[in-house]
Amino acid sequence: MKKIVFAASLLVTQQMVAQQGDPKLTEVWSPVPKIVTPGKICSAAPSDALVLFGGKNLDQWESVRDTTKAAGWDVADGIMTVNKNAGNIQTRKKFLDYQLHLEYRIPLGITGSGQGRGNSGVFLASTGAGDAGYEIQILDNYNNETYVNGQAASVYKQYPPLVNACKKPGEWQAYDIIWTAPRFNEDGSLKSPARVTAFHNGILVQNNVELKGPTLYIGKPSYKSHGASSIKLQAHGDDSKPISFKNIWLREL
Ligand code: MG
Repeated sequence: MKKIVFAASLLVTQQMVAQQGDPKLTEVWSPVPKIVTPGKICSAAPSDALVLFGGKNLDQWESVRDTTKAAGWDVADGIMTVNKNAGNIQTRKKFLDYQLHLEYRIPLGITGSGQGRGNSGVFLASTGAGDAGYEIQILDNYNNETYVNGQAASVYKQYPPLVNACKKPGEWQAYDIIWTAPRFNEDGSLKSPARVTAFHNGILVQNNVELKGPTLYIGKPSYKSHGASSIKLQAHGDDSKPISFKNIWLREL
């Protein structure tokens, strides 16, 4: 019994340490990216792509909480929908550099505001459990204000998108992302930082930006050595309706 109490209080203490500091200190609110209305999105997987989700099953994915378990998100009618109780999911396969295509849909009737409105995300390389990794934000920012380095298509808390290319809730939207993983020396020091180029609904939103380290909600990021990594999708803890994904494919570079 004592052991359980000790373990529980240790967990609380660890959580308190992790929560220390003010997340507002790393929010940026201006300039606000201008709104651009996207055209039609092109989505078909090319012949050399690895299909990560083709509409039938989650065979390429696993639970982040327990990597021995299948990803517990819901698959129906060719799309997958976040199951918030099941938590984040990640690819079974690990990658270094790649081109990634994915489509997502904020549900009609989405509620909430700021960061609590259709929040999800794609972690381009997972660096651990939970939300550890390099996140490109997914959020409904069609008429929804938040800090600009946390809006849709931002490299969360590092780079706002060049423009706001969000479509309306209920419409399918696409990310096309080119990811260059960071490289590390044998002693663990940084050899070259991660870089990302991203298109949101076909419009350039991140132009070969250099990442400062994995995403942090609080505080300043910094690198820690890692190799090839899973791609992770976020089941965010807000109480707005869960979003859906389809047509996810990747080309290793
Ligand atoms: Mg997110």
